[in-house]
Amino acid sequence: MTTLQERPDTDTEPLDTRRRLVVIGNGMAGARTVEEILERGEALQFRITMFGDEPYGNYNRIMLSHVLSGEETDADIFLNTLPWYEENQITLHAGVRVTRVDRFAKIVYGSDGSATDYDTLIFATGSYSFMPAIEGLRTDDGELLPGVFAFRTIDDTRRMVEYAQHDEHRRAVVIGGGLLGLEAARGLQTHGLVVDVVHAGAHLMNAQMGPQGGDILRQSVEKLGIEVHLKARTTAIIGEDRVRGVWLLDHPQLECDMVVVAAGIRPNVDVALTSGFTVERAIVVDDYMRTVDDPDVYAVGECVQHRGEVYGLVAPLWEQAVVLADQITGVDTSSAYLGSRTATKLKVAGVEVASMGVLGPEREGDEHIVFSEPTKGIYKSIVIRDDKLVGATVLGDTSKVAFLMQAFDRGLPLPDERVEMMFNLGSPTAEVGAAELADDAQVCNCNGVTKGHLVACVESGVKSVAGVMDKTRAGKGCGSCKTMVCQIVEWAAGGAVVEDPSANWYVPGVPMDKPALMVAIREQGLRSVSSVFAALAPEGAEDAKSKMGLASLLKMMWADQYIDEKDAKFINDRVHANIQKDGTFSVVPQMKGGVTTPDQLRRIADVAEKWNIPLVKLTGGQRIDLLGVRKEDLPKVWADLDMPSGYAYGKSFRTVKTCVGKDFCRFGVGDSTQLGIDIESRFQGIESPAKLKLAVSGCPRNCAESLVKDIGIVAIEGGRWEVYIGGAAGAHIRKGDLLATVDDPETAKTLTGRFMQYYRENAKWLERTYAFVPRVGLDFLKEVIVQDSLGIAADLDARIQEAVDAYSDPWKEGAAPATPGQFRSSLPLEVLPQVPVR
Ligand SMILES: Cc1cc2nc3c(=O)[nH]c(=O)nc-3n(C[C@H](O)[C@H](O)[C@H](O)COP(=O)(O)OP(=O)(O)OC[C@H]3O[C@@H](n4cnc5c(N)ncnc54)[C@H](O)[C@@H]3O)c2cc1C
Ligand code: SF4
Repeated sequence: MTTLQERPDTDTEPLDTRRRLVVIGNGMAGARTVEEILERGEALQFRITMFGDEPYGNYNRIMLSHVLSGEETDADIFLNTLPWYEENQITLHAGVRVTRVDRFAKIVYGSDGSATDYDTLIFATGSYSFMPAIEGLRTDDGELLPGVFAFRTIDDTRRMVEYAQHDEHRRAVVIGGGLLGLEAARGLQTHGLVVDVVHAGAHLMNAQMGPQGGDILRQSVEKLGIEVHLKARTTAIIGEDRVRGVWLLDHPQLECDMVVVAAGIRPNVDVALTSGFTVERAIVVDDYMRTVDDPDVYAVGECVQHRGEVYGLVAPLWEQAVVLADQITGVDTSSAYLGSRTATKLKVAGVEVASMGVLGPEREGDEHIVFSEPTKGIYKSIVIRDDKLVGATVLGDTSKVAFLMQAFDRGLPLPDERVEMMFNLGSPTAEVGAAELADDAQVCNCNGVTKGHLVACVESGVKSVAGVMDKTRAGKGCGSCKTMVCQIVEWAAGGAVVEDPSANWYVPGVPMDKPALMVAIREQGLRSVSSVFAALAPEGAEDAKSKMGLASLLKMMWADQYIDEKDAKFINDRVHANIQKDGTFSVVPQMKGGVTTPDQLRRIADVAEKWNIPLVKLTGGQRIDLLGVRKEDLPKVWADLDMPSGYAYGKSFRTVKTCVGKDFCRFGVGDSTQLGIDIESRFQGIESPAKLKLAVSGCPRNCAESLVKDIGIVAIEGGRWEVYIGGAAGAHIRKGDLLATVDDPETAKTLTGRFMQYYRENAKWLERTYAFVPRVGLDFLKEVIVQDSLGIAADLDARIQEAVDAYSDPWKEGAAPATPGQFRSSLPLEVLPQVPVR
């Protein structure tokens, strides 16, 4: 039965004279428009009712790729949760589809039988995934064949994740090599699936780039292990009860367990069409976002056609929402939408991509400048017409994109040296870059935030980067603009940037810095991660992102008294092996100081042969790595090896690299091998905030590279040893600082343990020593650790001793798994995605 919901019962309710605004569609454009209306302080004018056929509040659809890849949880991507609607007195019909609009009676009919009056109506119905006519795509009752997915909604994403994690599902085919297809492919890969992308076009992302750029993108994508099939048309899906593979025209058929269709989108115009509105490619609107049929009905977002254009990215719809809010509230009736120049900056499958304007030269006289470095995945193409930038495609290195976007948007004069548009030659400082940016230059495309918004936010009193990001949402989409956001906030605050309070929290889910957290844990005797949440997190809420950090901290504090909860750990820590990008694991048996014996070598060789280990490789830390082990084989491999774990996996003390030392080397002045073995024996397996890599060299020639280790020890003349801390030679390179020069190896060992414990107790979660040492200060560390200025040296020594005493070899767990599923695979195991065998 139909009920009229919005007509007031005049006997009991005072007459509400506000205009009734109804919004159909609670997606990114609909909700943003309502926010813009509220921001104009005009909520009092309206009684707002929203319909959304998804049963949720409003979420950031862009972030679904992150949810698919597991980087974000679905709870993290909500922009407006249900209480937000209540707080703003908005009636939300979540999970209700509008089926028809009677524009003469001004009533909207819902799938729940409701009828709602309106004075002003907005269509914000977005798009749906286009499903091409492929044989076998649907079952007889019209449903998608089990294993076939669209990629549009949170529900699609949840279903995909569940299906991808099924033990028996190993291969996926993604139909479509555009933005969405590549994001889906990358996301599925993180669940251990082997993924093929089937693309009908001659190159990837053909809507955003030309063939050369597309080819380099293909190479970058293939380097990630995703196979790309170009000019490939899917003719049929194979499988009766569920997907088994796909047929391709003129290509070999592909076996697979799931298919994701990302073949484009179509504006969702059904209701507008059946309700008598003008629809061409989408709902036709004028420059005020008004439908051409009815001055009281507007449309916004992907369901809109404006001056012949339909847009499929968020930046244009942010611009539309502003105009629509200006118009509807009457705040600025001169406001008009004149179309968007789509310049996009995205991170596609981890590759930075920016694209604007024309894809290549179109007219005689167009200048076309191209730089291409395929091995690094870098490609830059710029098209200039009459001295103005009319198009650019940038892949891999987007350092100049802010400038290019400005030049494209406002036709800025271009430098005579065109190469300056591609590279930072004699680059200006970040401050100058931020200062020079025009106020309306869009910094965050995903959320439509300009430099002006950021500056205004800082001027309104928000002086922390995180605060500005929260308030404006800048940097909360694909994340590629974060550096620029920081630079602008710093520049706008003129050196008065304040640190966000949460910046000092040890983990995001518990509002305490590390010392306070440790005191509370000790006082309350909290020995498990769940008990910390229950006692110290706001409302006892568990936070997935905080679990690993807390587990490490508790293990450090309680040693063998710690209550281990497996779900608090990263996969490497759960199975004591290193997960590789193909979903298999690598194991490193212990070889203290890099020293081994013929018996160990023989055993390793036998194990490698018996278990068909595809790659046996020496690591950078002088150990032997057995790569390509299947998860369920791990306990058997360890049992056959019968050697302890080599600690190459977790956030813990790892290994000590050594050189030959004085026994054999002509230059050696100290027994580096023995000291390395002693240190490794003593500190094996000890948890720390981040990994700890050590080395000992027998003389200052430093063959073990001790100066670039977290702790490096070097023998010098006179039987003395130098102890260095805070070195690194990874993504970050830093020469270690000299902590002390000592007279004997015993003292070197003591200082190593003492520094380790101080670092364990005081470093932030995931803070490597190369950041910790300069933050705390070398002089201070010398005073505390060497001179014992705080009188805590003995305590530090005692606490590291406790941790040493609590050591047990995690590979012993192989015999009695901690949980039934600990070594059960959820990864593709039959058709092994091969680690290359060389
Ligand atoms: C996985 C993914 C990644 C993306 N990445 C990017 C990116 O990096 N950058 C970018 O700019 N864009 C990206 N996009 C595109 C971007 O999400 C869209 O441009 C944007 O969401 C469009 O907003 P909209 O409000 O018009 O439509 P939507 O957000 O789809 O909202 C429309 C809503 O209306 C509802 N609805 C439809 N019909 C009815 C009805 N009859 N009754 C009630 N409710 C109805 C729908 O269920 C939906 O919730 C991505 C999209 C996806 C799916
Ligand atoms: S560091 Fe010195 S002792 Fe060690 S191997 Fe090199 S030269 Fe020899």
